[in-house]
Amino acid sequence: MKIDTLAVHAAREPDPSTGAVASPLVMSTTFLRATDGSYPQTHYYGRCGNPNREQLEQALAALEGAQEACAFASGQQAVLAVFMALRAGDHVLVSNDSYWGTRKQLRSILAPLGIVHTEVDTTNPAAVAAAFTPATRLLWVETPSNPLLRVSDIAALAALAHERGAWLAVDNTFATAVLQRPLELGADLVMHSTTKFVGGHSDLTGGVVAARESGPLFAALRAFQIEGGGVPSPFDCWLLRRSLMSLPLRVRAQSATALAVAQFLAAQPAVTAVHYPGLPHHPQHALAARQMSAFGAMLSFEVAGGEPAALAVAAKVRVFTRATSLGGVESLIEHRASMEGPGTQTPAGLLRVSIGLEDAGDLQADLATALAG
Ligand code: PLP
Repeated sequence: MKIDTLAVHAAREPDPSTGAVASPLVMSTTFLRATDGSYPQTHYYGRCGNPNREQLEQALAALEGAQEACAFASGQQAVLAVFMALRAGDHVLVSNDSYWGTRKQLRSILAPLGIVHTEVDTTNPAAVAAAFTPATRLLWVETPSNPLLRVSDIAALAALAHERGAWLAVDNTFATAVLQRPLELGADLVMHSTTKFVGGHSDLTGGVVAARESGPLFAALRAFQIEGGGVPSPFDCWLLRRSLMSLPLRVRAQSATALAVAQFLAAQPAVTAVHYPGLPHHPQHALAARQMSAFGAMLSFEVAGGEPAALAVAAKVRVFTRATSLGGVESLIEHRASMEGPGTQTPAGLLRVSIGLEDAGDLQADLATALAG
């Protein structure tokens, strides 16, 4: 089945007890035990399993082409679940332009536990090959990356990791399963902050990890979910399953508008750089064209004059909303370096943009006014 059909129908049947076509929301944290002590309807306690969470996990697994998926209360909890499958002495290679929170987690939570890491330019497979050590157990790749929209070759990196006995995990938050298929390209795990495009309406926090195969690695994730307890609420799972139905349409429309906005920005004299894999001058444009079915709804651009100039542009927008995060139906603009704080390597004049569902011409006109200011 195609992804549009799966988005509507995967793990979604009319409710057998009521006939409801829209899935019921089950908020109960506890479930009835039979007189013989068994649990005839399988569920027994909300942290360990809930009908809305299971429905979401099955649908997300179907969309990613995964055997199983595990939903978490945030993207960061999903990232942590993967790192917590490692042991003291293990080594992680991580994209040097991955989400700053992922790298912060490695520094602040994993390093004290003896899980060490190296940041590497994953757009350069030779650099990645050279960075492996005998202890490397995991290669963590974010593509396209945040905020510079760098694109890494998933198939090549999967081969490198597997030759060396390591797992490849891909943060697919920016592209989604609609535009990029990491598991089919050889990744072992695919992760999303479902707070972003999957949720799509800027009204919930969530994360997911989907695994190409059931097995010990996935079992470790499931144990971390249940024993660690960072589970999403039934309502957030219900909202996410509902949002999945429009994910393919939303992401394709947002991506088409992003291409138009990127082309517009590239023609503006006040803009010194546009980072978008759909533009022919992007260093990995050919790879992106091969690896993704469209280039995504995220882009960033730079203006001369550093932070004050970038903040001045962001101050003048009327259609875009000045806010962090991404993936919602409303377009967002953000001065990224001041959000990431001290030590960031993000250029001071960079603005990150998440394109929503507004009209492309209205967004271009808004940016034109802001840049002219
Ligand atoms: N991965 C990427 C690419 C992100 O952009 C984010 C958040 O911005 C995360 C992971 C973390 O997700 P969350 O904020 O849902 O914890």
